[in-house]
Amino acid sequence: MDYQAVLEEVADRARPLVRQGRVADYIPALECVSPDRFGIALTDLNGETYGVGDWEVPFSVQSISKAFSLALVLAQEDQSIWERVGREPSGTAFNSLVQLEWEQGIPRNPFLNSGALVVTDRLQTLTGDASTALLDFLREESGNPELSFDQAVAGSEAEHGDRNAALAHFMASFGNLENPVPSVIEHYFWQCSIEMSCRDLATAGGFLARHGLRADGTRLLHARDAKRMNAVMLTCGTYDAAGEFAYRVGLPAKSGVGGGIVAVVPGRCTLCVWSPGLDARGNSVAGAAALDHFTTLTGWSVF
Ligand code: GLU
Repeated sequence: MDYQAVLEEVADRARPLVRQGRVADYIPALECVSPDRFGIALTDLNGETYGVGDWEVPFSVQSISKAFSLALVLAQEDQSIWERVGREPSGTAFNSLVQLEWEQGIPRNPFLNSGALVVTDRLQTLTGDASTALLDFLREESGNPELSFDQAVAGSEAEHGDRNAALAHFMASFGNLENPVPSVIEHYFWQCSIEMSCRDLATAGGFLARHGLRADGTRLLHARDAKRMNAVMLTCGTYDAAGEFAYRVGLPAKSGVGGGIVAVVPGRCTLCVWSPGLDARGNSVAGAAALDHFTTLTGWSVF
């Protein structure tokens, strides 16, 4: 397969849609990103990465970080996380509180904010410094030692963090946090503020296409955990539009309100697309369209 040619065709088709979405505006630092940005990258099984457009421009990973913090917890052989977070799609917004009351403080899945806070809490216990551990992990897996936090984004997240604080306090009231709420939410905000490019994210997520192996053949995750992560990404990774995303694209994926989407073709490749304009659910409009074109052109969906 000529990956470069496929990515160029996909980009040509998706780029005209960049203005159809709306750039996230809940914090000023995200609001000022140009809606005209578009990039896509693909990492193959050998770790070779191809890209088109703004594929080397760093952007705010936001909720895409949730997939990597879960991977880091699972890489530490920590299955106990599944006693504290479920694996079911929620059908509610990513920051919803309602189901937490019905489920006694156990989030429906690790990609809701509540679920990600539990994962960050676990990572804090395992490493003593969850956000630094995640940044180090991402530097290592992406091969880019320059990755860093965006202080302005982290600060804004904290200023507008009442809902996340509420989620954390509510779970703490059920005994589902091991660390103090202020420290858990602070690490969560730092983790969301990490900046990475499509190249960085596709490279770092390569293990998901390689059944848990890195490009150099060393094992990051047990194959069973890579399968499980892909399953949860497929069913819960694109906010409460995961059903629609599976219908259109047919790949495990994790999106973020920075406009990035990481998608996995198990046994073949990992992709990352970025375009900041979002639909009403929080998924990149041109990004989802690009992945839709990709699976149509290649026939490579999981179905
Ligand atoms: N930092 C965002 C929040 O916690 C995450 C947004 C997202 O990408 O879903 O509200």
